[in-house]
Parts: sequence; C-alpha cells; structure tokens
Amino acid sequence: MTTKTDVAIVGAGAAGLAAARELRALGVDHVVLEAKPVVGGRTISDEATFGFPYDLGGFWISNDGDNFLVDAAERLGFDTSDQSFPGLEIPMLMDDRWETQAENSARLAFNDEAMATIGAFNPADPDRSIAEVAGTTSPWYPLLASWVGMLNGLPMERTSAVDQANLLHGETVHQVPEGMGRLVQAWAGVPDVMVNTPVRAIDWNDAGVELDVGDDVVTARALILTASVGVLASDTISFARTMPDRVREALGYLPMGTVNRIAVQFDGDVFGETCPPSFGRFVSADDHIYIMTRLVGENVALGYVGNELTLSLEQQPDDVAVDLLCDALALGIGTDVRDRITATLCTRWGSDPWSLGSYAAAEPGSAWARAALQEPWDDRVFLAGEATSLTQFSLVHGAANEGIRAARAASAVL
Ligand SMILES: Cc1cc2nc3c(=O)[nH]c(=O)nc-3n(C[C@H](O)[C@H](O)[C@H](O)COP(=O)(O)OP(=O)(O)OC[C@H]3O[C@@H](n4cnc5c(N)ncnc54)[C@H](O)[C@@H]3O)c2cc1C
Repeated sequence: MTTKTDVAIVGAGAAGLAAARELRALGVDHVVLEAKPVVGGRTISDEATFGFPYDLGGFWISNDGDNFLVDAAERLGFDTSDQSFPGLEIPMLMDDRWETQAENSARLAFNDEAMATIGAFNPADPDRSIAEVAGTTSPWYPLLASWVGMLNGLPMERTSAVDQANLLHGETVHQVPEGMGRLVQAWAGVPDVMVNTPVRAIDWNDAGVELDVGDDVVTARALILTASVGVLASDTISFARTMPDRVREALGYLPMGTVNRIAVQFDGDVFGETCPPSFGRFVSADDHIYIMTRLVGENVALGYVGNELTLSLEQQPDDVAVDLLCDALALGIGTDVRDRITATLCTRWGSDPWSLGSYAAAEPGSAWARAALQEPWDDRVFLAGEATSLTQFSLVHGAANEGIRAARAASAVL
C-alpha cells in the first residue's frame, strides 16, 4: 500500500509531536510514523509501574527564560511549583561515610571555581574540553566528573566547552509531578500517529521523498526526520543517497551521551527523618550514584547514573543497578530497606534501538555540528530534534522548538 502526504514526520517524540502540531496549525497535510508501539520517544511518562506518572526520560523543565513549557504547564493545569533541583551542594557519602565539613568545603570550593570557569568560557575562544577548562589536577576532579558525566552522559574530556557555553541554562528548574511526557502530549495534542511503523529506508530527490515502512511505502513532498543522532549514525535507516557531506561529518562529532534513571518503590516511607532529600555516593569513577528520595512525594527513590558506568550497568541485570541504589540508600537511611521493595524500573537508553543514547554532546572542536544538522537536504529532508538545537540541546523544549522550525521550513518548500 502507498500512503501519499505532503509532509512525512519520522518519530513521535517531542520534536515530531511539535512538528505535527505546527503543520496542523499551518493546515499542511502530514503523517507521523513512529517505530515504537507508543508515542513520546525520550519524553514519556510510564503510568503502569508505580501507579503514578513516572518519567523515563525528560523530567525537569529547565526555565531558561524562553521555555514555552512553563506557560503551557500553567495553562494546562500541571503543577510545577516544586523547583528543588539538586545541585552540586547536595551532601555526599564518601564511600561508606558522610563527608566531613572540611571535605565538603574543599569540594564545593573546587566545584564552584571549576563550574564558574566553564560558565565564563568565551565561545569565541578556541574550543577545548570542559575537563581542560575546569582543570583536572584537583583531588576533587573525579567527583565533579562523575556529576557532570551524570548530567551530560559523556566524560568531561569529550565535551566541548564552546557547546556548553552556547547552552541556555535554566534560571529555575521545575519538576512535573504529573509527568513531563503527559505534559508534552497535552500541549501537542497527540496526532494520528502510525505506531509500530519503523522507517527502514529513505530515498529523496528534489521532487519528494519515499519511505520504506516494511510492506508499505509512504511518499511525501518533504520529510521531517527526528530520529536521534545515535540512530542516524547507525545503520538502522538505509539512505538511498549520500547525505550531505557536512551532515555526515557532523554526525561523527555528536556522539550520544547516556544517562539512566534507576527507580525503586517501597511499601511505605522508609526514608526516615535524617536521610537527605537528595544526596550522592562517590566511591570511584566506576562506582557512584546521585539519588533523590520521596520522588514527587511518593515512596520512591530515584538514582541517576551516567557515562561509562551506566553503559556497563545496561549490560547487566536490573538487580545490579538496583543494588547500586540500595547500597547507597542503606548508608543514607542507616538501615537496609531492600526487603521493603515493591517495584523497580531501570531505563536502558544506551541500548534502546530507537534512541541509542540519551542525548547528544558535541566533542571538543565540534560545536559547529549542530548547525550543520539544520541544513536541509535538497530542500526535501529536514532534521529536527534535541541534537539540532543550538542553545537548548539535550532538552525537551529544545527538541520541540526544533520540530516547529523544521515544520515551518518544510511547509515553505511545498
Ligand atoms: C534519562 C533522560 C533524562 C532526561 N532528562 C531531561 C530533563 O529532565 N529535562 C529535559 O528537558 N530533557 C531531558 N532529557 C532529554 C529529553 O528527553 C530529550 O532531549 C527529548 O525528549 C528528545 O526529543 P526528540 O524528539 O529529539 O527525540 P526522541 O524523543 O528520541 O524522538 C524520536 C522518535 O523517533 C522514533 N524513531 C527513531 N527512529 C525511527 C525510525 N527509523 N522510524 C520511525 N520512528 C523512529 C523514536 O522511537 C522516537 O520516538 C532526558 C533524556 C533522558 C534519556
């Protein structure tokens, strides 16, 4: 069967849903093709595991002063009043004991200076890694690297200082207890998505595009392609023609970082009075975790792990990640609460075949790559997603804004 449309959108994550919303507003005929059985991509709220909407990916609204989700949440009745985003100042367990006051002061002094130096980096200067900018000789550097690796998903040594300087930082950061995935879908209005429809091959010329979706073919006058750069750089999709040189080169310099969320639910409030709401445990570069307790007021502990550590955890059964969290919790609470566990959920974004990582980070010297991804292919194929954003990459609203940009660009060539 052949489906004909004006614009085909591949992917129903934040970028694809936003593109569909924009095309709907412009009155442009379109179809949305999604490989997974569900809509949302890396912005999805799981409602089955814990009995409340639990975000598997994007969870925080980073209010950089230009984030439409802040107003959308208010308009749509989502509570975003909790702004308790944990930062580097959270208490740390150094292996199996709380850090001393002297260690805390020394750690925070190093962190403050390193982060201020990274923040003050002039994007017009020659690019370096953020590790080089921060300085790696302090004994506190490995701990900082574990935190930044947890945020970016890649080692500081592989992360461009120019790219980081281009990122708009949130003045405030809001939790969405009712689910970021639910919020994005409420804002976008979920279009008629063809789910379970992986696009296997794409051909294009200056007249239009043709997509191979198994037994069927979709033809369109333009294509908005929102697959992650991890997927685009893999052989998941076969491209009948050579991508523009700059795009191919850019994909090589924008690796996907990986960050995962490990969540454990208990049969009651196990956290007690003394366990901090957020804390970290650092044993080594290969053994650390950052934890929030009473996630959105529930009896749930959430651990964040990133970088190479999380990639190795993905290769092992969930129990290993759950143990990493529970070992730290036992120290934080003062007692082991493993026998109180009722449910667990560990994400595996690095091995998710439709994502192949959590979000893209530019390698030192490669901040240009994001702009290269925005360049249309023969005025027919338009890439969009978090990775194509110049200033809001790695973020839900950045992906959505890119979907809107691509929708306008695609409709202009019809
Ligand atoms: C663990 C984690 C934590 C995060 N935390 C935050 C946060 O707190 N705040 C924040 O703002 N952002 C956060 N993010 C980032 C945010 O979730 C992403 O930037 C955003 O969701 C990316 O949206 P996208 O549309 O670009 O890509 P995606 O959501 O990946 O959408 C692409 C879609 O394309 C589909 N697809 C891929 N290939 C094909 C194909 N061949 N055929 C058909 N369909 C295909 C995929 O299945 C997917 O649904 C987090 C991400 C992760 C993973």
